[in-house]
Amino acid sequence: MRILLVEDEPDLGTAIRRILHQHKYVVDWVQDGTEAWHYLTLADVSYTLAVVDWMLPGLSGLELCQRLRVHQYSLPILILTARDSQADKVAGLDAGADDYLVKPFGMEELLARLRALQRRAPQFQPAQLQVDTLTLDYGTHILSTVAAGRIEHVELTSKEFQILEYFMTHIGHIVTSQQLLAQLWDLGAEPTSNVVAAQIRLLRRKLAELGHEHRLETVYGMGYRFH
Ligand code: CA
Repeated sequence: MRILLVEDEPDLGTAIRRILHQHKYVVDWVQDGTEAWHYLTLADVSYTLAVVDWMLPGLSGLELCQRLRVHQYSLPILILTARDSQADKVAGLDAGADDYLVKPFGMEELLARLRALQRRAPQFQPAQLQVDTLTLDYGTHILSTVAAGRIEHVELTSKEFQILEYFMTHIGHIVTSQQLLAQLWDLGAEPTSNVVAAQIRLLRRKLAELGHEHRLETVYGMGYRFH
């Protein structure tokens, strides 16, 4: 799952990004409302949700929400702000925000609000993703399968989890390294395509532990395909 974080306070932005990374989210962090608009409207990147500070240079968080809704972007938006008057909350929600978190807040509360937003939006994933006998658990990041009546399981790293989730939601499609880089690596991280190949090798090793390495096929000269 990919989150756009829009926060102009460096310390807070750094702390939020760190905790989101720890919880296996892909995070792009920008510090300006206008830049956020450009990120959210990029054609080749889709965000699961946005965490947006109210007071920002460029567009304010409220203006960003309004503009997104006017242009029919439906991604869930969590507004962060030091304002906590009733009137401000109403203004935030009226602008199209889905939820509202008053600073200072605990990271556990932020994570809980994000989980709630994911649950509320029907297009988002349930607790587990299942393909045939493979089950990927969003809570534990454990991949499991039933073999000869026994459950076998293996724990995935953040990146392995993100890549496998992408494949399991694009069954049978040829997926290029460029697609994986665009969707699963933070923008500005400037990874090379070797990074993708290396991660695919690691993921195959995990799949092999469960006897499922045949599912991830290399399509020579094009990319990868998951069956
Ligand atoms: Ca701010």
